[in-house]
Amino acid sequence: MNRPIPGTVQVAVRHILSDRVTGGLIRPRTRTITWRDTFLRVRRPQSGKQTVEVICGVCETSLLAEVRDETRTGRTKAVLLTLAAVSVLLFVAALAYAIHEGGKTLPEGQSLPVLFPVSVIGVFVTFVASPVLYTRGRHYDGVSMLSPRREAAGHQLKPVRG
Ligand SMILES: [Zn+2]
Repeated sequence: MNRPIPGTVQVAVRHILSDRVTGGLIRPRTRTITWRDTFLRVRRPQSGKQTVEVICGVCETSLLAEVRDETRTGRTKAVLLTLAAVSVLLFVAALAYAIHEGGKTLPEGQSLPVLFPVSVIGVFVTFVASPVLYTRGRHYDGVSMLSPRREAAGHQLKPVRG
């Protein structure tokens, strides 16, 4: 969207206009969220973390955000992406094991090893966790909401690529 400016980071203050859940009984359940983003550029501290005020462009609510320095942001990003990679490896290993053990024809009276249900759970957990960790890592910008939930109600801070 914008070229990155050293020492700053662009964030979007998301003002939730409406969040409705319809259907559920006859029609499929659908959640409709509408919002409006306000784009802001905040300064990143040289080191450590800093609290900055961001103002919602829709309702002028003042919110507090915490901005981490470049090094810490990069480190957290790397940790998240590493965890995502580990999760993918565990997924492959657990899946291979589950298929291997599950496909065996067992002699009568012998049950599957204890590790079998563990590997099945592992397949499901890592299947969900891998993309979540990857997305979190990819978009992590070191900016997080500091305002208490009650004060920040109806607002979210979203990373902006650029
Ligand atoms: Zn607002």
